[in-house]
Amino acid sequence: MTDVKLIEELSNAYGAPGFEDDVIDVVIKHKGNLKATRDNLKNLYLYPENYDASKPTIMLDAHLDEVAFIVSYIDSNGLLGIEMLGRWEWYNVSAHLFKVRNKDGEYVKGIIGSKPPHFLTPDERENGLKMADLKVDVGATSREEVMESFGIEVGAPIVPCVEFEYNETNSTMLGKAFDNRLGCAAVIDTLKALEKEDLPVNVVGALASQEEVGLRGATVTAHRVDPTFAIVFEGTPSDDYAKPVEQSQARMGYGPQVRHKDSSYIANEDWIKLVKKVSTDKAIPIQHAVREGGGTNAGRIHLNKTGVPVLVLGVPSRYAHTHHLFASFKDYEQTVKLAVESIKAIDDSFLNQFEVEYD
Ligand SMILES: [Zn+2]
Repeated sequence: MTDVKLIEELSNAYGAPGFEDDVIDVVIKHKGNLKATRDNLKNLYLYPENYDASKPTIMLDAHLDEVAFIVSYIDSNGLLGIEMLGRWEWYNVSAHLFKVRNKDGEYVKGIIGSKPPHFLTPDERENGLKMADLKVDVGATSREEVMESFGIEVGAPIVPCVEFEYNETNSTMLGKAFDNRLGCAAVIDTLKALEKEDLPVNVVGALASQEEVGLRGATVTAHRVDPTFAIVFEGTPSDDYAKPVEQSQARMGYGPQVRHKDSSYIANEDWIKLVKKVSTDKAIPIQHAVREGGGTNAGRIHLNKTGVPVLVLGVPSRYAHTHHLFASFKDYEQTVKLAVESIKAIDDSFLNQFEVEYD
């Protein structure tokens, strides 16, 4: 059964792109009977005990990493220069708390500096600061102190400093990295829910590294798993704050998002048809999204080898790519249920409709 504790541990774990180790540790702790393998890109594969190589495989994808920063230099004042790992906006990071990993693997608290109003130029007051001007301050006063007493070096990953909270009254979760730890949790919960089922397909988990820097891990997971089908789980950006209700495609509390199109892929219609039917039959609410921009690992997976029908399911998450996100645990549960019931609904006629030979 789904448990908010799994999401809590995944959300609190540190996983800058290329540094997904802590997230992997949490997944391993919760993997149960699944067999796990890690590759040299820090992708993690989860195979069920009853894996049968003669059956077609559905790959369940989610990415392990979160938007983060990396130390690019240390100045003589003891401030850390930074490069983005994934897309941030300056106004979402200035004056926020982060954690920097030191050479012993410990995380040190730091503030991304902001100019007090006293020092802003008229231009800065009007147009804001530049990302390139922002630095992380760990409270040191010299380069030597940063390196010797804090043990922080160039190349160290930096992640948001946020502790998960859960409001049981309205089932709302508050935390960081719901993009995409909600997806990681959904992969684990879906695999466990289907473990004992006798299905015409294998269901394999592939938790990818480095999505936020350009869908890199999933390029390798798709090669390795070589799936016939795939489901990509995402903590998808909710548009509650940004769009009128009529144009919303991901409202928190209104169920999983089914993605028809974004800048990385166009959905497979047969998958969408199956999901719509399951949504009606099992009374699971869904929201439909046609996105102008954005992209998910589906962008890579659907182009693997001879082409892979991919379904993208998203749990709406407010304030993606910032420190603090809200998401509904009910939406999460419905997303897992939709995936489980859709996979259970797969039969021979579904499997045989994709490749067609003409006389
Ligand atoms: Zn993202």
